[in-house]
Amino acid sequence: MPCYDKKLEASRLDNRMSSDNLTGSIPEVDCVITPIEVEKMFQLKHVNFNDLPSRSLNYLYEKFNMQANGNLELRSHSGSGAGGYAENIFRFIASEFYGKQLESCKGESPKLHWKAVRNNDYLELKLYENGSTDTNVGDKSMKSLLSFAILNGFRNVQNLVSRVKRKTCSYDYVEVSACPKGCLNGGAQIRDIPFNPSINKTKNVDASTIAFEQVEHLYENLSIEPNFGLEIPTSTLEQIHNDNRDLYESLRLNEPEILNQMRTEFKVVEKTFNILNSNW
Ligand code: SF4
Repeated sequence: MPCYDKKLEASRLDNRMSSDNLTGSIPEVDCVITPIEVEKMFQLKHVNFNDLPSRSLNYLYEKFNMQANGNLELRSHSGSGAGGYAENIFRFIASEFYGKQLESCKGESPKLHWKAVRNNDYLELKLYENGSTDTNVGDKSMKSLLSFAILNGFRNVQNLVSRVKRKTCSYDYVEVSACPKGCLNGGAQIRDIPFNPSINKTKNVDASTIAFEQVEHLYENLSIEPNFGLEIPTSTLEQIHNDNRDLYESLRLNEPEILNQMRTEFKVVEKTFNILNSNW
């Protein structure tokens, strides 16, 4: 994973097969290894990633990655590199509640108009009555139906938390990432990537910016998984909803233990005073 936090996440009691009884319970994830650690393992064997030839990826789920011509390709979904939740939930609510179909896209028109608020790690997206997400289109006095935000990095998250506490945060949904620029720039991403003039914008920048620009470029150029967007016909969507509801209902009645494993809950962590959290 691109961050060390997944190690903490994997060690949570919720992520054991029997979360209320640590003795004898089984972790769902055996081990979390970050790219930096994989690189170090290779370095111990005197292997440098940059010297290795490229080759095709292995696919765990071939049927999801099969193109019409029978070739395999790695696919992504629309939205941010931190999972794309804000964008996909935005499209879904716009369609389900307001009947506004916003096509799935990535890096091409028509795209959703995310607006940088204070910096590129604080983005806002609104849906207007005319079905547009662009403030420059149509009447400026038009009311917004939906208001979403993406906030990356602790400085922005800290501002959000204080706005929530002051009850001045009016967003319908916020996608929050701890790392500045989100998961593509995770703290455990490999940094030692050579400058590439066809991708990197500026030469004299730090190693993490060079690596981030290349990871972002790779991510942006993946094809989008069509079935994750709203191109799914309504009848199929309804079928998926019904199947999911039936599955949940059957688990609730017959296998509540398994259902519990499919969910997690917010749990307040007791605050301990130290220099890192004293400002929160
Ligand atoms: S934002 Fe950073 S810490 Fe959070 S999941 Fe992504 S890589 Fe990990």
